[in-house]
Amino acid sequence: MRIDLSAPLRDSGQSYPFSADLELEPIVYLDDPVAFSNVHAEGVLIGAGESVEMRATVSADVTSRCALCLEEAKAHLAAETVDRFSRTPNEDEDEYLIEGYSADLTKPVLDALLLEMPMRFLCRPDCKGLCPVCGQNRNNGSCTCEQDS
Ligand SMILES: [Zn+2]
Ligand SMILES: [Zn+2]
Repeated sequence: MRIDLSAPLRDSGQSYPFSADLELEPIVYLDDPVAFSNVHAEGVLIGAGESVEMRATVSADVTSRCALCLEEAKAHLAAETVDRFSRTPNEDEDEYLIEGYSADLTKPVLDALLLEMPMRFLCRPDCKGLCPVCGQNRNNGSCTCEQDS
């Protein structure tokens, strides 16, 4: 998803509100597949001469795998981000490339969401996980392997 930056590039110091719905490709995060839906970014684009500052709120629904029972787990992520688009981006400082008079919004949005990603996904806070002996999903009922511990 590309965003038009011609107005903020023309008018230094001016703020332009924007709002965008994005599609993000699924990724692998800490060995788990993660899919995104309802990805949304909104905020302002501020002209700064040859570069443009973006102040945005980014949100998405993510679907991954429960760390305990391996069933589907969902989470909602929301992040505040401040990024800069530049024709000569310094990637160490959260700067992203302007090509022509527009920039790709996908990378800064994904980067902002990754910072909010939980260390592990759970299908529910009290997930009972799998039986280490027979592999039964204990959320669906207990198995016949009695645990001493
Ligand atoms: Zn679970
Ligand atoms: Zn069992």
